[in-house]
Formats: sequence, C-alpha cells, structure tokens
Amino acid sequence: MTEARPLRVLAMEVGPLSENTYIVGHPATGKAVVIDPGDEADEILRQLEAQGWTLDKILLTHGHFDHVGAVAALKERTAANVYIHPDDADRMRTAGRQGAMFGLNVPTPPPPDVLVREGDIVSLGDVPFRVLHTPGHTPGHVTYLSGDLAFVGDLIFEGSIGRTDLPGGSHEQLLRAVREKIFTLPGETILFPGHGPATTVGDEKRGNPFFTGEEAEG
Ligand SMILES: [Zn+2]
Ligand SMILES: [Zn+2]
Repeated sequence: MTEARPLRVLAMEVGPLSENTYIVGHPATGKAVVIDPGDEADEILRQLEAQGWTLDKILLTHGHFDHVGAVAALKERTAANVYIHPDDADRMRTAGRQGAMFGLNVPTPPPPDVLVREGDIVSLGDVPFRVLHTPGHTPGHVTYLSGDLAFVGDLIFEGSIGRTDLPGGSHEQLLRAVREKIFTLPGETILFPGHGPATTVGDEKRGNPFFTGEEAEG
C-alpha cells in the first residue's frame, strides 16, 4: 500500500546542455520550489502559472551555469529565496564566465539568500526536504531528499556519474558520496538527475557500471 505523495514533480529539459529543471509543487498549499532552473525562465514561470502554483524557493544542487542560468530572472520576478551550499556560492557567481567559455550568454545570478549544509531541512508547505552534502562533481554539491524523491543534480545519472575533471572535482569524493548518502536510501527511492532520465537507487546499485565493478575509471 502506498500513500499518496504530497508533492508533484514536473520535469523540464532546458538550455543548450539539456539540463533538467524540476518544478516541485505542493498542491495542498499551492506553493512550489524550482530545483536547478538552468534556463528558460519564461517557460518555468508559465508552467507555474498553469498549475496555479506560487514559487516559494529556488533550490540549487550546485553552481554550474547550466543549472543556475534562470535564477536571476526568477529572482527578479518572484519573491523566492535562493538556496545553495556555501562551497558552491562563489561558483554560482562565476556563471557568466562559465557560460562564456561555451560561447553562451548566461546572466549572473544574485547572491544566495540561504546557505544550506548537510542535515539542514528546507520546507515546502509542511513537507521537508533534507539537504545531503554530496561533493565530488563540485565541492558544494548537494542533494535534496523528500520522502522517496531525491534530486541529485550532477552526482549520479542513469548508468553514469557526474564529471569530476572540472575545478574542485574529485572522483573519489563523488563515489563515496553516492555510496554513503544515496545507496543507503531505500531501493525504490527515485533519483531525479540534472541530465537524462530519472532512475532509482535500486536500478543504479544493480546496473551502474561505476559501482558494479565493470568499469574502474571514467
Ligand atoms: Zn554540473
Ligand atoms: Zn549539469
């Protein structure tokens, strides 16, 4: 028997790097959070309006430009506060420069309103999201966990893991974060990654080559 989830998740693929932006609504209160609004602020606002949801918070898994490109516009047009780990706050500030290296024009996000750390609770209505510090892709990368929903950013993907060759990356840290913080969750926990399709803890434990020993390096 499964209880009805208090939250609804809308996934949007945005921007030139096909980044997943998640709009998570709490229909009981009409509030929503947006996780990693990478681009297409107008479309995000249109989706919120279509659902009749008010944007309450902007939650960021890390500070790469493809995850924060719409933060400036959303912040300007809503009252939502911006949440990020302190170790990625400076990275977010360089989003414009990061984008320029890809030939893209990325508006610089405003400074964060709230710094989140391991174990912090961020609420949407009466529903808690627990912050898990999951470094490796970047030093301040976090996962937002609510019930059986985990928003894992660029930590782990279906059959793959986040790249660790960018500044501040660490392959060992990333593998440890997945093993200690993600693979200890129930197998049916749904993982919503920053790129590509959703998956589950159980499927990745069984089939992700970075953890089944089929591939040593990557
Ligand atoms: Zn990234
Ligand atoms: Zn990304």
